[in-house]
Amino acid sequence: MRVIATIEEFRAARAALHGTVGLVPTMGYLHEGHLSLVRRARAENDNVITTIFVNPTQFSPAEDLARYPRDLPRDLALLEAEKVDLVFAPDVAEMYPPGFGTFVDAGPITAPLEGAARPGHFRGVATVVCKLFNITTPHRAYFGQKDAQQTLVIRRMTLDLNLPVEIVVCPIVREPDGLAMSSRNVYLNPEERRAATVLFRALQAAQDRFRAGERNGDALRAAMRAVIDAEPLARADYVSVADLDDLHELEEVTSRALASLAVRIGTTRLIDNCLLEVRGERREARGER
Ligand code: AMP
Repeated sequence: MRVIATIEEFRAARAALHGTVGLVPTMGYLHEGHLSLVRRARAENDNVITTIFVNPTQFSPAEDLARYPRDLPRDLALLEAEKVDLVFAPDVAEMYPPGFGTFVDAGPITAPLEGAARPGHFRGVATVVCKLFNITTPHRAYFGQKDAQQTLVIRRMTLDLNLPVEIVVCPIVREPDGLAMSSRNVYLNPEERRAATVLFRALQAAQDRFRAGERNGDALRAAMRAVIDAEPLARADYVSVADLDDLHELEEVTSRALASLAVRIGTTRLIDNCLLEVRGERREARGER
């Protein structure tokens, strides 16, 4: 496994690879969620590239860029064990040299939910992913359903800009108690860590109501909100039952929907989601297009 920090050196190493290439972009501090993407890429491609870059343009000034967890030696040991071929781990100046001025805006899909809560976030995400695609030129790129809106933004950008890469979306990996794995879980103290299961419990409440026949969007959103409101350490940022394609809030769920939420546990902001789907529509809803 080679670890490379400059674009020039990386391009030379990439040019020497034969066969298909799968890319897994990450911000590091790797966990089993990231590694599930790496394993899928390993199974489906001749070569695997992982990038580790905490991208400043997707953080607002008020967010956690400076304290975002980092442990490059540990990450590299995990990636080596997964037989990753190349790791691209540039510093900020390599990706955003003086004079940098071009950004990618994927349009209306970036407006609701995470886009509304985090202005400029998806502009930063789309820009860095576009740059990483251009630097690593993968055949396939692997993203987690954990960041559901992000996958829609990346798909939109890839389609609109005719980027020659197949986007593969992988299922959410959870802790045994249901908490979705996230690099940010490390911020939680033991009490907050227990409270953080509220996201999964809220999604389960929506899922239970949906399975019992509830199709009204407000009722499903209220079911999630009630679970969050009952947890003293949690404060809902948003709860959503939205169309899977354009993320508009649904009044009625006819076939399938994305239930998603963002919740603050103390100062830590966590997100999670699940698909609500009428039986028989599972294949398409899993993104297997
Ligand atoms: P990040 O390092 O948070 O930018 O995440 C890098 C990639 O890993 C993104 O495509 C995420 O959606 C994905 N990812 C993060 N957490 C999980 C998880 N719990 N399960 C599956 N994928 C995940």
